[in-house]
Amino acid sequence: MKDLELLINILKQRGFVYQSQEIYGGLRGVYDWGHLGVIMKNKIKSFWLKDVVFKRENIFLIESSILGLKRTYEASGHLQYFNDPLVECKNCHQRFRADHLIKGDYGEVEFKEGKALCPICKGELTEERSFNLMFKTYIGPVEELASVAYLRPETAQGMFYNFKNILNSYRPKLPFGIAQIGKAFRNEITPKNFLFRIREFEQMELEFFVKPEEAEKWFNYWVEERYNWYLKLGFKKENLRKYIYPKEELAHYSAGTIDIEYNYPFGFKELEGIANRTDYDLKRHSEFSNEELKYFDEKNKEKIYPYVIEPSVGVERLMFAIFCEFYDEDEIEGEVRRVFRFPSFLAPIEVAVFPLLSNRKKLVEKAKEIYFELKNEGFIVFYDDSGSIGRRYRRQDEIGTPFCLTIDFQTLEDETITIRDRDTTKQERLKIPEIKDFLREKLNF
Ligand code: ATP
Repeated sequence: MKDLELLINILKQRGFVYQSQEIYGGLRGVYDWGHLGVIMKNKIKSFWLKDVVFKRENIFLIESSILGLKRTYEASGHLQYFNDPLVECKNCHQRFRADHLIKGDYGEVEFKEGKALCPICKGELTEERSFNLMFKTYIGPVEELASVAYLRPETAQGMFYNFKNILNSYRPKLPFGIAQIGKAFRNEITPKNFLFRIREFEQMELEFFVKPEEAEKWFNYWVEERYNWYLKLGFKKENLRKYIYPKEELAHYSAGTIDIEYNYPFGFKELEGIANRTDYDLKRHSEFSNEELKYFDEKNKEKIYPYVIEPSVGVERLMFAIFCEFYDEDEIEGEVRRVFRFPSFLAPIEVAVFPLLSNRKKLVEKAKEIYFELKNEGFIVFYDDSGSIGRRYRRQDEIGTPFCLTIDFQTLEDETITIRDRDTTKQERLKIPEIKDFLREKLNF
């Protein structure tokens, strides 16, 4: 997918994702999700939960709060380190992330006397200053220093400050993990590239605690596991690659990070990060809270700070990659067909039901009967009787519906219907009682 504008228009038009508060001019870097988008996000999250949490032993879920104490983010290092370098154009007052500007992310950069100029108006830029990415708020009715709180910039801290609770509740043995899906907020200087860099997003994160001497082994394990997960999702190998961070690019808590990058319309960029966060977080929270967040190793009869390996991915950044990966165009009867070739288990509408003609009572009745029966079985079904069958197929192709059922005159005679496959556009006839098993098999993951 190279035409980002076209993609954004289709996703808006068809009810996947909207710019938030557009009627007021829009809130930059914030998006709202429509019916189809919400279904897909939930399917992605289920697929992650199944693979990362439920199929394994010793991984526990948590849902921690979005509001966080100042103390928590002093301990985590976010107040001190979670900064981006900001520059502003003295002429047009546009703001940029200095590191991204130099990389050419805002267009070609010209220099004057060794200093970069504004990529928009060639004006002079201010000196770099550090800008903290956390959203600050106040708890309670009085805006005073003592009531300062922060919206979490990652879900991870909830796993660290609940470490002792998890040990007490479930008595896990190393290695074990704490996983969370939830919102995170970052006041990005320049949100851009559609869903790629936004200010409010969801993360799917795992904190996997291990013996320090095994950290390297588990780090490599999770890089492979997570890479393979994308292949299971149906991503092409050539659109994925791994990026190993050089030392100078590592975050303040990391002893090693590898990104899984996706080939977005603007090039390969981070989709998921896997980091070896060492014992940094548990030690810091122990120090700042005076609670010893250690694990008792029964074999060696000693208390240790485990190391932690963290795979972390943003749901929206992943949704964006999925939209790019599975969008396709082909030609049918001389007309361009737009189609999302989502894997069946991710498609927001699983099956569409059409009566061949909308003005034949018997066909409509039968179609409605099948529609409600499938809905009652738990399938996500769409009913459509407007326009020609060809048009109806095209509308479903454009939202990625893998199967369309058509009820025709033969159905009324022999209880068979046609089922049309989105990818091949081929139709076959099935007996009505066989449909549920057919769909279950195809939609399973
Ligand atoms: P970047 O370098 O692109 O700003 P990051 O290295 O700061 O990302 P992490 O802190 O590792 O990102 O966050 C883990 C994951 O959360 C990322 O891999 C990404 O999928 C997602 N994520 C982070 N920031 C954003 C954002 N502003 N918008 C959407 N997703 C994000």
